[in-house]
Amino acid sequence: MLKLPVSHLVQRIVYDKKQHGIELSQIDPDALYVMEKLREHGHRAYLVGGSVRDLLLGHTPKDFDISTSALPEEIRAIFKNCILIGRRFRLAHIRFKKKILEVATFRSGDIESDSLIVRDNQWGSEEEDVIRRDFTINGLFYDSSNETIVDYVGGYADLDKHYLRTIGQPYLRFKQDPVRMIRLVKFQARFGFEIDHDTLLALLECRHELHKSSPTRILEELLRMLELGSAKVFFQLLTKHGLLHLMLPNLAAFLEIDEKKAIFAFLDNIDTAYLEHSITYDRGILLSALIFPAFEHFFEGHFIAQQNFPHLGEIHVIANTFATDMFMPFFQIPKRLKMSIVSILTSQYRLIPIGEKRKKRPRVPQQPDFALAVQFLKIRSEIDPSLEERWVMWNELVGKSPESSPPPRRRRRRSRRKKPHEPL
Ligand code: ATP
Ligand code: MG
Repeated sequence: MLKLPVSHLVQRIVYDKKQHGIELSQIDPDALYVMEKLREHGHRAYLVGGSVRDLLLGHTPKDFDISTSALPEEIRAIFKNCILIGRRFRLAHIRFKKKILEVATFRSGDIESDSLIVRDNQWGSEEEDVIRRDFTINGLFYDSSNETIVDYVGGYADLDKHYLRTIGQPYLRFKQDPVRMIRLVKFQARFGFEIDHDTLLALLECRHELHKSSPTRILEELLRMLELGSAKVFFQLLTKHGLLHLMLPNLAAFLEIDEKKAIFAFLDNIDTAYLEHSITYDRGILLSALIFPAFEHFFEGHFIAQQNFPHLGEIHVIANTFATDMFMPFFQIPKRLKMSIVSILTSQYRLIPIGEKRKKRPRVPQQPDFALAVQFLKIRSEIDPSLEERWVMWNELVGKSPESSPPPRRRRRRSRRKKPHEPL
């Protein structure tokens, strides 16, 4: 029995293949196998969320999440290559070589409540599983047994209209989980869709609740945006909607005085690298790009302008304090990632020494993140061509010619990834 007013459910509409046009060949064969196997055991199983949305938009999905009536233990009993993860958001991970498919049991949630969700393990019906999802465009099921799309929330029509709205009352949905506000801006940035009037009003009304959500989950959404080609628009929209100063007040303050819009030049460069050359930079580089213009500005004002030229050890300490201040009070950057950012920022002053008083032949230091610092210099040189010569020299010194430099890649750590909507 649904505990929710049925008004949240538009009538169930089924779209057949002639209407939606998705071919089975566009779907990961392992995901098809998992759903078929679940059905053979008497369960229902659908593709859900981002993959259905992306297929309908003509994009290639990043992952194929599955929702099923089978309970976690039942899923584990069917698949040998399956482990159950997460306490507060119990989830089955089915491994195929390097890939992991996430299979979640249908859940229910009180979407009428205005209190923060802390646990999400209440099993439910397939309709309940849809209405606890965030936006209508993310609430579509794909049934591979008959190649239909099942829509309970009007998501199909909204995708067609390029329209973003929450499932249910936006004000309540944002209060339950403020990360949804960041997700709203993410989809607006990525797809350029229009935001529904009430959803936008609720965003403006609820944005101060952002601090109640888990910084880890928000950081993950920010990093994903830095990785996937819409970072510039995303940060512009965060600024426009008044969200950036709630998360990164010092960055937001710098943007107000950053006449050259240097941060956006970096984000633009990173987006282009991804969209045109399929380059995903290391996360240390991505976060450095976000704060480097502010660091350079600070450094100029506090040191260079005073003719005070700190040595590299001192710059390291300054960069460390600066990075802490930029991400505080909201974000606690994981230690390894923070070390990498500090090292990249500091090394910029080794790669291009202050005052240009170069005596000795430059030497490549034995430090793990130095290659990242050189990659970062490459981004800087693309923005400011006067730095190109210096990048070429260092790149040769670290043993790579500019042409043969392979696209920098980040290794994905998928196995322990928490479900993004898992409350922490
Ligand atoms: P992306 O392409 O960035 O992965 P996505 O929509 O697939 O976008 P995921 O984080 O992979 O996002 O989540 C998968 C699905 O889980 C979403 O499409 C949505 O249906 C649901 N979901 C994710 N986060 C939330 C949330 N905070 N509240 C409710 N439902 C959510
Ligand atoms: Mg996804």
